[in-house]
Amino acid sequence: VSGNPNQIIIVGAGPVGLALAARLEAMAIDCTVIEAEAAPARDLRASTFHPPTLDMLEELGVADALIAQGLPSPTWQIRVHETSERAEFDLSLLKDDTRHPYRLQCEQHRLVGLFVEKLSRARHVDLRFGSRLVDIVETDDRVEATIERDGRRETVRGRLLVGTDGARSTVRERLGFAFDGVTYPETTILAVTPFRFEEHIPDLSNVNYVWNRTGTYSLLRLPGFWRCSLYPDAGETIEQALEPASIERKLQRVVARPEPYEVLEIRAYRVHMRIVGDYRRGRVVLAGDAAHINSPSGGMGMNGGIHDAFALSEEIERVWHGADLDVIDRYTARRRPIAEQEILSQADRNRRRMQERDPARRAELFAELRETVADPARHRAYLLRSSMIEGLRRAGQIA
Ligand SMILES: Cc1cc2nc3c(=O)[nH]c(=O)nc-3n(C[C@H](O)[C@H](O)[C@H](O)COP(=O)(O)OP(=O)(O)OC[C@H]3O[C@@H](n4cnc5c(N)ncnc54)[C@H](O)[C@@H]3O)c2cc1C
Repeated sequence: VSGNPNQIIIVGAGPVGLALAARLEAMAIDCTVIEAEAAPARDLRASTFHPPTLDMLEELGVADALIAQGLPSPTWQIRVHETSERAEFDLSLLKDDTRHPYRLQCEQHRLVGLFVEKLSRARHVDLRFGSRLVDIVETDDRVEATIERDGRRETVRGRLLVGTDGARSTVRERLGFAFDGVTYPETTILAVTPFRFEEHIPDLSNVNYVWNRTGTYSLLRLPGFWRCSLYPDAGETIEQALEPASIERKLQRVVARPEPYEVLEIRAYRVHMRIVGDYRRGRVVLAGDAAHINSPSGGMGMNGGIHDAFALSEEIERVWHGADLDVIDRYTARRRPIAEQEILSQADRNRRRMQERDPARRAELFAELRETVADPARHRAYLLRSSMIEGLRRAGQIA
């Protein structure tokens, strides 16, 4: 048994677990972070940081270094491939609402890297890679985590355990939290290319959701490459859609060119919408993907998880200074309705909008978007919601 028995145990060193650890370090609260992998993951996942998340990361002292590694992107758009018509949203309208009135296009592993570097020098955080949580036991006044490292088991004891171990959370599974919701039928195929779309498509933003005749695609720019979300054609299996020839055909539809595309990486993923009923059970709390998952459309999953970490840290601070464990329920009361009514529902709406195939319904949706951006008050209101500021304001009002 190791560590301060009063400490907080955090399971999972993704962006959410590490944001929580960084906040606890700032509050001088002891914690141990347990991460199954030997080193931080570098796979391509979240690529957008919304304004209020950047404001929070600034408080944690990592925003400047992150911004230096990414592309600050004041606009994003929904466009029609064939006509090049677009509805462009402009985040500079939020200049009085945030210190960062833009989206930052940057890979999530860069934030994880910055946190790991910072926390390796921390006084109150013990960060352990290569340590997998396998079991949790609660006693009257403690929680004990069994971890496996190099084939050996050891127990870490603490006052509270936070599961930030992602969509397939072991913590959630061990405690038997139900994770209700749906898995969407489509598979998204992510293709990464250094091709400079910005030099071939006029008026492109760094974030573009596009309707075309056969369906939809999106183009997200990151430093040095573009990430394209593509979908299998009608009648095509996932395996066929992952073939280089199929990827090439789809990229040629975005910009036709005589040379083949250079494709750096291909990855397929399914999308879900799920949430647990209560974020806490006894001495165990969930945050981030372990508690809720949504369509990446709108880029809100990781951002919402970091917002969870901030809200949860405030209640942990009260527990650390003697408050009853029940104060943690304010975290669920503040964050769960926002996850459900703002994050999951907006992501679902964004996904449905781009998956819409009926031309008449698309025209209606597009007209509505164009009217929204043409009206400054509606445009700003839309941005406050899609940038997750509205949700944070609402959460702050929940007593
Ligand atoms: C293709 C794609 C695009 C996305 N785009 C965006 C976007 O633009 N914006 C956005 O906000 N979100 C986006 N997301 C979602 C985002 O990636 C997740 O919401 C985010 O990673 C959640 O962070 P997390 O820390 O909760 O979990 P994770 O990042 O999943 O981290 C969990 C950690 O826990 C560890 N772990 C798991 N089990 C154990 C165990 N038993 N013991 C110890 N450690 C364990 C894992 O190894 C991992 O390091 C995207 C996701 C995908 C797949």
